[in-house]
Amino acid sequence: PIPSADMLSQLPTQFFATLVQNVNREIADGHDVINLGQGNPDTPTPPHIIRSLQESAENPLYHKYSPFRGYAFLKEAVAKRYKEDYNVDLDPETEVAILFGGKTGLVQLPQILLNPGDVCLVPDPGYPDYWSGVAIAQARMSFMPLLEGNGFLPDYEAISADDRQKAKLMFLNYPNNPTSAAAPLSFYEDTVEFAIQNQIVVASDFAYGAIGYDGHRPVSFLQAPGAKEVGIEFYTLSKTYNMAGWRVGFALGNAEIISKINLLQDHIYVSLFGGIQAAAAEALTGPQDCVTSLVAKYASRRDAFYEALSAIGWQAPKPQGSFFGWLPVPEGHSSAEFANILLREAKVAVAPGIGFGSHGEGYVRIGLLSDEQRLQEAAERIGRLQLFK
Ligand code: PLP
Repeated sequence: PIPSADMLSQLPTQFFATLVQNVNREIADGHDVINLGQGNPDTPTPPHIIRSLQESAENPLYHKYSPFRGYAFLKEAVAKRYKEDYNVDLDPETEVAILFGGKTGLVQLPQILLNPGDVCLVPDPGYPDYWSGVAIAQARMSFMPLLEGNGFLPDYEAISADDRQKAKLMFLNYPNNPTSAAAPLSFYEDTVEFAIQNQIVVASDFAYGAIGYDGHRPVSFLQAPGAKEVGIEFYTLSKTYNMAGWRVGFALGNAEIISKINLLQDHIYVSLFGGIQAAAAEALTGPQDCVTSLVAKYASRRDAFYEALSAIGWQAPKPQGSFFGWLPVPEGHSSAEFANILLREAKVAVAPGIGFGSHGEGYVRIGLLSDEQRLQEAAERIGRLQLFK
């Protein structure tokens, strides 16, 4: 028999896999599905970044192994972007690690910081990769409920004294997937204080750091005074520059944590293809109007979609950030049942809130990941089901 590590059976089920299967079945049956379930950006990578990769691919230097921990120019590029966008100072050499997408860092962080049985504070609802990392590290999760009444921010007072004492790591994610909430700087100031008092490392997942609405640029955790003493931020090019397939991300902040991340990575990877690193540097240092126009595009999709939803009687506050909407499920249905009804009867795919944790029940997540017309059509199709009184 083939042996199997116990850890494998403890990994959470990848609920998106089921969602994709259901969507594909509908498509195979010939239906025109509007897929707003997954978080896959639908806009191509800006042409100047692609050109940079094309040119870099010709450079024989990049055909060799890249240096361990990546090229200095890429670390300098991300430090420069943080200075410009958030006025945060980062030492490219000691406070930046290059990752294969934010995901590898998020999932590996618990292995780097925790021992089996240690506690990790995890938002509920939240991005399921946090659970995977904790499971691989054989650590234990303590969920922090994100409630609508509290702006979907965790209430640190509500964490039990025992968990507060045992917790060594905490994940936060604003702009938030799935609730689309944003966090004010004052929340991060409180977070730094809480982290110092309880000796907890903060991992801020800033995957949607560029996507804020109504004139609000999202706040970076590293803007809070003292943040670098207690934590790091994960930053990724996936959403900001529509580079999800390129797999470029970063861990930024506390030098001791960064060095531990690099240490583990040295044993697993060398570094990203040099041509991708060059194109990533171009993304970060080149013209940024692609980001401005991307955010404007999501904003007008959001406005058109929420107007159409309101016309069918489905009311919810508009997203503050990210490209997701977080909408209440009408009474009498679970989020999974409701998502199934929308897929089966309206051919609109959405993600059931329960997939993000027990406090996600009662909601569905809808991605603003089709053009305005398709989003309006999705709302009209849902409206025809007469589910909202
Ligand atoms: N964090 C959150 C909240 C996300 O939604 C995603 C991607 O969907 C990621 C991290 C992962 O990003 P990356 O593509 O950099 O691995």
